[in-house]
Amino acid sequence: MASFELIEPQSVEEALVALDSDDPAVRPMGGGTALMLMMKAQLFAPTRLVSLRGIGGGFSGFSLSGDGETFCIGAMTTFSELEQSVEIARHLPVITQTMKTLANVRVRNVATVGGNLAHGDPHLDLPPVWTTLGARVRIIGQSGERVIPVEELFVGYYETSLEPGELIAQVLVPVRPDWRSFYAKVTTRAEHDWPALGLAVSVLPEGERIADVSIVLSAAVDRPTRLVNAENVLRGSVLCDEVLTRAGEAAVAETDIETDNRGSSAYKKQLLRVHLGRAIRKVMGA
Ligand SMILES: Cc1cc2nc3c(=O)[nH]c(=O)nc-3n(C[C@H](O)[C@H](O)[C@H](O)COP(=O)(O)OP(=O)(O)OC[C@H]3O[C@@H](n4cnc5c(N)ncnc54)[C@H](O)[C@@H]3O)c2cc1C
Repeated sequence: MASFELIEPQSVEEALVALDSDDPAVRPMGGGTALMLMMKAQLFAPTRLVSLRGIGGGFSGFSLSGDGETFCIGAMTTFSELEQSVEIARHLPVITQTMKTLANVRVRNVATVGGNLAHGDPHLDLPPVWTTLGARVRIIGQSGERVIPVEELFVGYYETSLEPGELIAQVLVPVRPDWRSFYAKVTTRAEHDWPALGLAVSVLPEGERIADVSIVLSAAVDRPTRLVNAENVLRGSVLCDEVLTRAGEAAVAETDIETDNRGSSAYKKQLLRVHLGRAIRKVMGA
């Protein structure tokens, strides 16, 4: 492995200065789990890594906003911190559920919320979940700060809308006690394998009627993708087999699912039909 510079700034300002470079091999580092894999595979050779571990501020920890309406989660929060939090389990139980099949405890102890989002890998479990929860990301750069919906972060396969030198600082998740959410990690070879498809759903139930719904597909597509047509079939409908079948067909028709080593396109489309129906039934308690 070629040698590189490791910088450990103690403030956000210092980190932004260390990242201010035209060299694409200068990168921020969260937990380093994805970076190290890319370096070992010789897909990436950094000239400088800027560790965000010591910068503090809003990058660490998580809390409810003063008005109780938003969970603010620092980008350097590790998955284990989320997994073990009673507050997360109470307000965002789908996050606790997702952690149970995400990687392994060694990875969860170091991998961070910000690094996971910035990596842009469409197979990752949390990005579709944040999207279906209606979360936004707070991004900080030399020229200031911006807040965008999580779905606007992903622009293609391993591609994000982050500008060079910009940092994800926080994930802002609305607290919506009336909504119910579920993440289906659908693997085809072994339970702990990368998903053939990931499906995150959130619904606002009103008795047996689906008052509102959000559905996000990942892994089988090049980025976490809202299934808008399937949502439109379900929104306002009373749950029944016929509606779920139409939603499944709408979902398949609106996505471009490629064949890969986790299954043929036809097989993954059938997985989508089946698991969408199951996920909606689960969140509707039916
Ligand atoms: C053995 C193994 C199994 C895994 N299994 C799963 C799994 O089942 N499900 C799953 O979802 N994931 C899985 N992962 C992937 C893991 O979730 C990612 O590696 C991890 O989320 C990346 O987080 P990190 O903090 O380590 O990122 P890093 O490796 O530090 O960084 C990743 C990228 O994000 C950039 N970056 C980091 N922090 C920031 C920031 N705050 N702002 C802007 N850019 C930033 C870095 O420059 C780099 O480009 C697995 C990983 C391993 C090693």
